[in-house]
Amino acid sequence: MSKVRKDYFSESFVLFTNEKPDKIKKLKKVVKKKDCPYCPGNEHITGPADLVLISKEGTLAKLADEDESFVKDWTVRAFLNKDAIVSPDEERIFSDYPQYSEPAIGYHYVVVLSQKHTIDVSEIGSEQWTNILTTVQDKSRWLYSQKHVSYVAVYMNHGVEAGAEIEHPHLQIVSLPTVPPVIEAEAKFMKKPLREKGICPMCVIVKEEESSKRIIGKTENFVMFAPWASKHPYEYWIFPRQHEVSFVKFTQKGISELSEIIHKSIESLTKTLGIVAFNLVVHSSPEKKTSKQIHWHIEIYPRLETKTGLEISSNIQVNKILPEEAAKKLAKNFQK
Ligand SMILES: [Zn+2]
Ligand SMILES: [Zn+2]
Repeated sequence: MSKVRKDYFSESFVLFTNEKPDKIKKLKKVVKKKDCPYCPGNEHITGPADLVLISKEGTLAKLADEDESFVKDWTVRAFLNKDAIVSPDEERIFSDYPQYSEPAIGYHYVVVLSQKHTIDVSEIGSEQWTNILTTVQDKSRWLYSQKHVSYVAVYMNHGVEAGAEIEHPHLQIVSLPTVPPVIEAEAKFMKKPLREKGICPMCVIVKEEESSKRIIGKTENFVMFAPWASKHPYEYWIFPRQHEVSFVKFTQKGISELSEIIHKSIESLTKTLGIVAFNLVVHSSPEKKTSKQIHWHIEIYPRLETKTGLEISSNIQVNKILPEEAAKKLAKNFQK
């Protein structure tokens, strides 16, 4: 049983998932190649995938596994996570403030990024990223057509420090019954200037950062920079340069250009720091609420340090590297 409980004082919430205690103890032990459920040949461990991409002579086919018959030679697989943090069949039990609680209704998907079991994500090329992002868009669209879905969260945990339990590169898609506070905050920041002056403040930020010391790289339609108040060392964001509100509805041409910059960004990260743990997250507008629009983007947080008491208790982040210094090093390794 999963449920969402809201904080006494603020809008932040906690997702309770009832994981078994013995599993919590073992969390540090990452599943390595030898018994990897995401490696080809082990599809029976994860169970059937409802979206399997096959790439043949440059064209993509979308298939699905049958009960006991698994599609072979796949390029990307998406299936429901057996250790889901939300579930479509939660009991509909709610309670009121100050003990606010609601059921965590939703779907939790895993997307395996390729057949290759590697800890070096820079080995995943831009063409493969296009296959991955196409799968993510496809699943996200379906999720937004379901009931009780207010937001679809897309994120990647890579490496144990970033919360990954399995070494094989994968990302996750979780539908949530409420819009996460961070997206609410971004939408709130956007709302007034957008409504009153028709100006997107995120477009303004993108324009300014393009010519700042925090710029890392750009392509025709994207810009990559280290944010002004980076919370993590070597954190960087990738933004479309034009005003775009939806990652889910972003064009195929845009996706292939995005794939290229994601690949190059991870390559520059690896060249700069070696193979490191990181989280990659997508921030996009909630598709059902046109009143909560943001300028969609991707945020990447290398996880080089453990959060300290000050950070956990006060939400004040400590970062030992200025974004200008981080950007300079990353830019040097960013292939033009
Ligand atoms: Zn594997
Ligand atoms: Zn914008």
